[in-house]
Amino acid sequence: MDQTELDLEQFSRDVVAGKTSALARAITLAESKKLEHSELAAELLDRCIALRKSIKETFRIGVSGSPGVGKSTFIESLGCHIARDLNKKVAVLAVDPSSIIRGGSILGDKTRMSKLAVEPNAYVRPSPSGGTWGGLARHTDEVITLCETAGYEVILVETVGVGQSEAAVADAVDMLILLVSPGAGDELQGSKKGILELADIVVVNRADKSTKLLAAQTRQEYLSALELQQPRLPFWKPPVLLCSCLEQQSDAQSTPPILSPVDIWKRAMEFYQLIVEHGILTAERGKQRSRWMWSVIRESIVPRMKRHSSIQKELPELEQKLAQGAISPRKAALTLLDIVFQAHSPTDN
Ligand code: GDP
Repeated sequence: MDQTELDLEQFSRDVVAGKTSALARAITLAESKKLEHSELAAELLDRCIALRKSIKETFRIGVSGSPGVGKSTFIESLGCHIARDLNKKVAVLAVDPSSIIRGGSILGDKTRMSKLAVEPNAYVRPSPSGGTWGGLARHTDEVITLCETAGYEVILVETVGVGQSEAAVADAVDMLILLVSPGAGDELQGSKKGILELADIVVVNRADKSTKLLAAQTRQEYLSALELQQPRLPFWKPPVLLCSCLEQQSDAQSTPPILSPVDIWKRAMEFYQLIVEHGILTAERGKQRSRWMWSVIRESIVPRMKRHSSIQKELPELEQKLAQGAISPRKAALTLLDIVFQAHSPTDN
């Protein structure tokens, strides 16, 4: 994409008109690690927001869990229900934690949700390839907002159960669904424990008729673990639900019931109604935006400082002093910060 030739006005109109090719390009731009791309993406996003005028009520849901637990299968069933039966526009995004950790790709090139991908009401962000993809975790909020300006009402964000990506996703969505497998109670002892604090619904997936006993035991273990922690919201105790994504396996009459992804959607909607009624949806999104603003500042301040002409002038001498141990790193850092902030103080204009 030749950035200089981008007609931002037309580009933003195409995104807001719901053209998926434009949305895909916009997301690529937002995910890019290049500073000029992220600046362009920010400009584009603001134009889209201005053009959109009123964004419909949207629901952002994170779906997290270890590889193989059934996230894609679950999201595809949910997505098809939302797109077909409810006739709502649904977007599916995947956050690949390896992009932050080591530049590779865990989600890999698997064919993603082929049934959902052909639904006219659905947009499935294609899978990463060759590790080149994947700034989404750092810009999840922007990518979600882009999808919303393109008219998507439900945004499903999939993430593999690794701390950093989960925290980033949890900070960009309205609710987090944690998927675990029957027998996954052991995970409660280890590093996965923190994730439970972020979950609004825990789903023991792959709870088919044949694995029901083990799934029910896992459910008890998660319920006990949840008892020990303070609920995130006073009016919502995260339920632990059994689910099977295989057709004909759900059995709402059994105890505990085996639910389908569509039943889980109904519980998710109960949660949504409550957070809307309590004013939490709007308040939380405001707080999230503020946290994302600070994260953008953290991310952009160092590259900007390095490009700053006064800093470039001062740096060789400071680095020489640092090499000789003649100045402390802290003093050197404060000297550079002073150069930038004094240069931009209001009295300096
Ligand atoms: P992901 O890595 O978490 O996205 O997992 P996938 O959705 O790719 O699922 C991994 C495997 O589990 C696939 O072969 C699915 O068909 C299978 N699977 C998903 N949900 C269920 C379920 O409820 N029951 C059973 N038996 N298999 C499932």
